[in-house]
Parts: sequence; structure tokens; C-alpha cells
Amino acid sequence: MKERIYMIPVNDAYRSSALCPLCELRNAVENSSLEYYLGPSLMEPDVRISTNTKGFCGDHLQKMYGREINRLGMGLMLHTHLVDLAEDMNPCIASAAPSSGTLFRGRDRDYKKNLEAAADRIEARAESCIICDKIADTMERYLDVLLWMYFEDPSFRELFRTKKTHCLGHTAFLLRGAAKYLNQNQAAEFVSALASDSAQGLAELTGDIEWFTQKFDYRNKDKPWGGAKSAIPRAISFLSERGGPTDEAITNGT
Ligand SMILES: [Zn+2]
Ligand SMILES: [Zn+2]
Repeated sequence: MKERIYMIPVNDAYRSSALCPLCELRNAVENSSLEYYLGPSLMEPDVRISTNTKGFCGDHLQKMYGREINRLGMGLMLHTHLVDLAEDMNPCIASAAPSSGTLFRGRDRDYKKNLEAAADRIEARAESCIICDKIADTMERYLDVLLWMYFEDPSFRELFRTKKTHCLGHTAFLLRGAAKYLNQNQAAEFVSALASDSAQGLAELTGDIEWFTQKFDYRNKDKPWGGAKSAIPRAISFLSERGGPTDEAITNGT
């Protein structure tokens, strides 16, 4: 049996009211990681080794800072991270500087390649993030378990099919999962179901957005909103994996 520890959150996310259950799972992993890295673990030597070398991306540093807790811990972590970064970056930039092309040293044919390589190295450090890695790793496990449950657990398959919408990013994520974990027959069945459910979910969302615009017509003023009130935040969530409005905003249509 696939890891049970991952089955419970997957089931819970599909039972929740979230527009995209995979965004719900992703956000839960992100929140628990933010809590973890702002908690006492920040002082543990093995955690500090990874925060020094891997660090956090700009988005997650801002989210950590935005929580307004453990600023001392963040300061200590950033201090040793910057020291580690300087040891890597300073020689990297310095060695990328080409010779000035004097007669004595001749022309440096590889200087463009060296500059590109230094830029690649620095970009990789800027993008390196323990929390992004944790999210990617956990979501991959959820995906594996989800596809396994779809074929092995009929009640989950039924639940999965009640969700007509996954955000765009997670629709692609499911298709990649089908390519990676399913055989051709399984992929045929899963993707056909996904195609018809997605088309239905998108048609409902499009209809709600249209009705939202028509509600501005005075003749429709007293007609019921239906699903139109929350249509704009729902469309934003659909179009923006992870960064969509909160469930509360979606419910209230704000
Ligand atoms: Zn999503
Ligand atoms: Zn990150």
C-alpha cells in the first residue's frame, strides 16, 4: 500500500471547499514549512547547515518576514547564510572578469562563456530554497499517492470527480503525473475523465464571470447572483497556482 501518511491529507483536500485541492495541499506544506523554519529548528546545527548552503528564495524570505515572529532567529540564519554566500560568490564574480586584452595576456576567447557560467551560478543560488524543495518533494509524493488512489480506491475516484476544477498549473501537474506514473490504459481513463471534468468546471466559471458582468445591467439588478459573486476571485485562483485569493475571499466574493 502506498504511504498512508500521504493519503489522509489528499482525501481531506478533496473533501475541502478549496477551488483547487492541490493548491490547498501545496499551501498547507508551505505553511507548515514556514512555521518549522521560524521555530526552534532554526537553531539546530543540521538545519543551519542547509539554511547556510541552500537558503530561501525571495518569496519565502518575504513570507517568513511577514509572519513577524522570531526576527532574531531570521537574523542569525541570514548572517551565516550571507557568510556562506560571500565565500562562493566573491571568487565566482572575481574569476569571471576577463583579462583586459592587453598584448601581454592576449585575448580571452572564453570570456563570454565564463560570464554566462558565473551568472548561472549566481542565479542558481538566488533560486535555491529549502521550502520550495520541500513543497516540490511533498507534492510529488501526493501526486504519486493520488494517482494510485484513483485506481485502487473507488470512493476516492468518486471524490476526485466531484472536483471540477484544478488550477491551470495543477492541471499541468496532473498531466505530468499521468505521464510519469500511469500506464497507457490508466492514462487514457484518467485523462479522459480529467478532460471532461475540467471542461465542465471551466464552462461554469466562464458562465459565472459572464453573469457577473451582466449583473451590472440595471435590468438584472434584482436577479440572484448565483455563483457570480465569487467569480472573479475564483477565476484568479484558477489562473494563478498558489497565489490566489483566500477561501474566505472566494466565499465572500471580495
Ligand atoms: Zn492548484
Ligand atoms: Zn522558496
